[in-house]
Amino acid sequence: MRNVFNFSAGPAVLPEEVLGEAAAEMLDWHGSGQSVMEMSHRGKEYMSIHAQAEADLRELMGIPASYKTLFLQGGATLQFAILPMNFLPQGKTADYINTGEWSKKAIKEAQLFGKVNVAASSEERKFTCVPPRGEWRLTPDAAYVHICANETIGGVEFQSTPDVGDVPLIADISSNFMSRPIDVTKYGVLYGGAQKNLGPAGLTLVIVREDLLGHVRPNSPSLLDLKQQADNDSMVNTPPTFAVYVAGLVFRWMKRQGGVAAVERRNIEKSNLLYDYLDSSAFYTNPVARADRSRMNVPFTLPDAALDAPFLAGAQERGLLQLKGHRSVGGMRASIYNAMSLAGVQALVDYLRAFEKQHG
Ligand SMILES: *Cc1c(COP(=O)(O)O)cnc(C)c1O
Repeated sequence: MRNVFNFSAGPAVLPEEVLGEAAAEMLDWHGSGQSVMEMSHRGKEYMSIHAQAEADLRELMGIPASYKTLFLQGGATLQFAILPMNFLPQGKTADYINTGEWSKKAIKEAQLFGKVNVAASSEERKFTCVPPRGEWRLTPDAAYVHICANETIGGVEFQSTPDVGDVPLIADISSNFMSRPIDVTKYGVLYGGAQKNLGPAGLTLVIVREDLLGHVRPNSPSLLDLKQQADNDSMVNTPPTFAVYVAGLVFRWMKRQGGVAAVERRNIEKSNLLYDYLDSSAFYTNPVARADRSRMNVPFTLPDAALDAPFLAGAQERGLLQLKGHRSVGGMRASIYNAMSLAGVQALVDYLRAFEKQHG
């Protein structure tokens, strides 16, 4: 057992059970005499790992047969470009909701490919909320509407799926993947990197409604054509085999936890514990509107930035790792993904209280 709690925003903590399984199978997967890393991606052993991971993902998220699930590379950041290449035809407009740093990056990349309308933004409110649906100025007949479901840096999260009518809704769920049940049928595309909630870096998941595929821009590289990826079971080239395998172990762990609904209950408990303490204290501040607070990423500041270094040093001493906030916002950030235990959040709250007592 490790005696630390890792609050990294990503790559992030993985369930210890999963790391133990991967370690035990490292040299010889299921009597095959091979590490998963050494297997041909076309061999029957790896194909079974890939198929099982996909089946478990589909079961956990309730993904209907009319959606394709893709295991790709390039991170969510490459999807920022792949989305307009595949779903924004020349002459059409894509609507983006700007709720923070990741939204901004998605917008910037989409602008390389076509017309982007920022239909609503909370930038003037320092990204401390989701702009109310009533403020959104959507384009009639837009190609799609894009949201970042959870802003990992600002700690702002959509608590429900916005209604955008018949226009396909696309969501970046990198940092709240499988942290709460989600009605996949309300989305055209869901996507995210694995390294926050699902596994190691190097794997990107894309869940896409099949009827949206097949309109990639001419002259697009094969790897960036989601239809080709779908038609080839994500094997246009070598998929990130080891990362898919570890994500598959995480999916099985999720099932043992009772599935996404059970994991959500724990996530509510964990985030309430932390926010309740922050709110009860005059020492720590979280700037996000209560209704829009993220259950996954909790930024907070101390009353004086000069206290940041001693705070982090004391945390490190107690085995509370990677609490430093993102360089763009400063302060602290506790990422409390699916694999973070309630005991970890309790240890953090105990430390927050002790530090406040000493310095408050
Ligand atoms: C981490 C993150 C990204 C970027 O992911 P990469 O895999 O590094 O490209 C994009 N969006 C959100 C919401 C993230 O948390």
